[in-house]
Amino acid sequence: MPEVRRNISKALEDMDSLRLLVLTDGQESAEIRSLLRRIFYQLEDLQRHPFISTTRHQKITSLLASLLDAEHGALIKGSAEEGLNEEDTESLNEYIANRKNIMQEAQQDMPSVYKLIIRCSDLLGKDPASENDIAVKCKLLETQLREHLQDDASLRQELNHLTSAFENSLNFLTDILEATGSDAPELQQVKNILQQDLPEDPKKAHELLQNARKNLLQAGEKISSATTALKDNMETQVTQIKALSSRLEDAESQARSDPLTGLANRRKLAEFLSTVKDTTASFIMLDIDHFKSINDTYGHDAGDEILTVLASILTESVRETDMVARLGGEEFCIVLVGINAEPAFHIAEKVRQSIEVHPFKTRQGKVDVNISLGVAEHRDKEAHAAWIKRADQALYQSKEGGRNRVTLVQ
Ligand code: GH3
Ligand code: MG
Ligand code: MG
Repeated sequence: MPEVRRNISKALEDMDSLRLLVLTDGQESAEIRSLLRRIFYQLEDLQRHPFISTTRHQKITSLLASLLDAEHGALIKGSAEEGLNEEDTESLNEYIANRKNIMQEAQQDMPSVYKLIIRCSDLLGKDPASENDIAVKCKLLETQLREHLQDDASLRQELNHLTSAFENSLNFLTDILEATGSDAPELQQVKNILQQDLPEDPKKAHELLQNARKNLLQAGEKISSATTALKDNMETQVTQIKALSSRLEDAESQARSDPLTGLANRRKLAEFLSTVKDTTASFIMLDIDHFKSINDTYGHDAGDEILTVLASILTESVRETDMVARLGGEEFCIVLVGINAEPAFHIAEKVRQSIEVHPFKTRQGKVDVNISLGVAEHRDKEAHAAWIKRADQALYQSKEGGRNRVTLVQ
């Protein structure tokens, strides 16, 4: 029995296909004829089936025939209507009625579906190819719709990218231009464009953003020339600063050195002394003897030459870590670090001798030069002024004692 049911339902399925063909292609197609042939085969098959009685078979045949009659005229004629029990007949009739309703509704919907397809195609500006049948039309329309949606989506995506990229660049460029104090009306224009809602039509929105992009490019070019100018300006400033700083350096070293001899002056001496605190140190004060008469005899220029040569002899006589300074006129001093009174006295004596034996040659001829010196060792916690004063007093004693000598003060 299950096979019987299968065959019946297969026959009904074929009939559904048949109906569709009849609706779309007319009644005389070869397809209808072959379908009908298949239905008849199935019916014959049913007839030979051992479980199907002749009356039952006739009943089925007649139901199929009446269904086809109702739709398409008398294609199949059946006569006997007995054999099926009441329940089967009823459910078969119900089934057939149901199918008929569906087909009728579909037929009623057909014109409106068709109209809809035409309208959609019009909206898309495409030709729905009117000679094709509905299934092909639908397929075509579906493809067209898909393409359209894809185009639209990619355009919108591009617009979103552009808008956010613009916003970032815009903020960046505005910051730079503000920092350089430049003015860019293009940026304001771009801002205005981005602040308004983009048009719904992606093509128009695209145009608007292209415009914004052009303005941004212009502003960017402005920035690049502004930065070049800024860079040039900076380079000039740096050169000027460098020149100024080297002049300052010169001025500073001049402020700390004696222009004639190049020795440290009083200011540099004071700085040096401030570093001498808890260490042993000795101070030598020295002064050229009768320098006034040397000046008077050989001239002021010769005096200057003597001062310069004497300065270099002093410098060569001590270590680099010691300090030689010109205190003014023909008065000099030496600070010996880490050296106490006795060796300091000997160094002073050696310096005196060096000067005494040195042949000072001036343009006016050879000059004998002598110096008097006073030596004082730094006392614990002694103020620098007091220390220098004691060395000065020792020098005074050397002068008083006959000049060209060293006095060590205790
Ligand atoms: P004393 O032995 O007592 O030190 O006698 P003096 O002549 O050396 O001392 P005085 O203070 O009487 O004279 C110092 C002279 O030094 C007077 C001044 O013309 C000279 N003098 C000071 N500074 C310079 C200078 O820079 N160049 C030259 N050529 N002479 C100077
Ligand atoms: Mg003198
Ligand atoms: Mg003097």
